[in-house]
Amino acid sequence: MLWLDTPGRPEQGEPLAGDTTADLVVVGAGFTGLWAALQAAEDRPDLDVLLIEAGSVAGEASGRNGGFVSSSLTHGIQNGVERFGADLGAIGAAASANFDGLLGSVRRHGIDAGLRVDGALQVADRPWQLPALRDTADLLAAHGERVTWLDGPELRAQIDSPTYLGGLWQHTGEALVDPARLAWGLADACRRLGVRIAEGTRLTGLERHGAGVLVRTDRGSVRCGAVVLGTNAFHSPVRAVNRRVVPVFDHVLATEPLSPAQREAIGWWSGQGVSDSANQFHYYRMTDGGPDGGPRILWGGYDAVFHTGGRIRPEYYDNPATTRKLAEHFFATFPQLEGLAFTHRWGGVIDTSTRFSVGFGTALDGRVAWAVGYTGLGVGASRFGARVCLDLLYRPDSEVLGLSLVRKGLLPFPPEPLRSVGIQLTRRAIARADERDGRRGAWLRLLDSLGLGFDS
Ligand SMILES: Cc1cc2nc3c(=O)[nH]c(=O)nc-3n(C[C@H](O)[C@H](O)[C@H](O)COP(=O)(O)OP(=O)(O)OC[C@H]3O[C@@H](n4cnc5c(N)ncnc54)[C@H](O)[C@@H]3O)c2cc1C
Repeated sequence: MLWLDTPGRPEQGEPLAGDTTADLVVVGAGFTGLWAALQAAEDRPDLDVLLIEAGSVAGEASGRNGGFVSSSLTHGIQNGVERFGADLGAIGAAASANFDGLLGSVRRHGIDAGLRVDGALQVADRPWQLPALRDTADLLAAHGERVTWLDGPELRAQIDSPTYLGGLWQHTGEALVDPARLAWGLADACRRLGVRIAEGTRLTGLERHGAGVLVRTDRGSVRCGAVVLGTNAFHSPVRAVNRRVVPVFDHVLATEPLSPAQREAIGWWSGQGVSDSANQFHYYRMTDGGPDGGPRILWGGYDAVFHTGGRIRPEYYDNPATTRKLAEHFFATFPQLEGLAFTHRWGGVIDTSTRFSVGFGTALDGRVAWAVGYTGLGVGASRFGARVCLDLLYRPDSEVLGLSLVRKGLLPFPPEPLRSVGIQLTRRAIARADERDGRRGAWLRLLDSLGLGFDS
């Protein structure tokens, strides 16, 4: 894995050593858990915070993603309009505050995460994608983002792909990071503020204990006052969580470092992340040339692979068929780079929800709070997810709890076997829509009308 297999990767920390106590237990050392622990320690330095992680810090989605930091809390502006229309102004304000807060924290804690705040490009490579992309540009501008529309030649002056027909450059609210370095830096910042981090420690159960919670793990138990769960789509002791997210595998490639001549051939010197505009889209970016020995191109997305039954198995992280397809698409986009080798390929778990954006809940009479469902756009939104969990536990009068994004719960997926059948049907329908110039068939239109969907 590009981000994780670097000389700077910290050794996995010690597990929990037997039974203990804490004020707050945070479960999961991905971005949700790390931001929850950090913000809790910053809010209340007296709070005794223990973070437990089944594997290692950033070992799952948070260390395997594309590193696109988006301010959007709604999985993009279109999805936000469709699902939260009237409340979008307030959600947008919370989103901007969250994005600024994230950048501020990275700088305040001196985290060297290769941060680049150069915006993002969304490109059309088929004529049918242009009108919707123009609508997106208008919507973003109407909601206060700084956006430039680029016609084909203007876009190709930014990055030269013969497939590009036009696109939008969102200058504000979009950044890039090395996600593993961000997560490791957050963990260090947590430790400096007194947070204990127990790695290799799996949560196995939660139960009421007096006015608090007994947290059971495979390494001992913890008596505590409250719990935050940031466990993505991994099996949760809270049944409501398991019903509201499904694990979808997303796959990524990274090239060998580009020579100056190869960079010149595609004219890519700018620092935006890029995504294309089909339903099955690719996202790609140049790495920062840090410890990964870049600049390389990271290229991911397209297939959103759901394994029938919804299990997470080690063999699912490597998917040769999907990565072969990704490689073909790469060279179709950048034929000038024919012969460039891919040195890394990996996969990760996406916690897909029916509304594509994070949702929240509590369990054990409000002593446990959870945030899941980012659906592939959680690098930025996870900080907000963590904030909401802490407010659910400690600040019931907080303004963010009034946002419809927080108040409206995630609709559950149907039980198996309906769940797997429905998801596979939807995946095929999405692929067909792309083949038919974006025209959505009856099944997708039905899901749209019910406010349900499937995405990566
Ligand atoms: C390939 C890929 C590309 C992506 N690209 C982007 C992108 O460019 N931009 C973006 O915004 N988002 C992206 N995402 C999504 C983003 O990575 C996630 O939304 C985000 O990292 C979620 O963070 P998290 O902390 O909720 O989950 P995770 O990082 O998965 O952390 C959850 C942690 O909980 C731990 N855990 C689970 N169960 C237990 C248990 N019982 N006991 C103890 N610990 C447990 C896991 O081991 C894991 O470390 C991508 C995701 C993938 C997989």
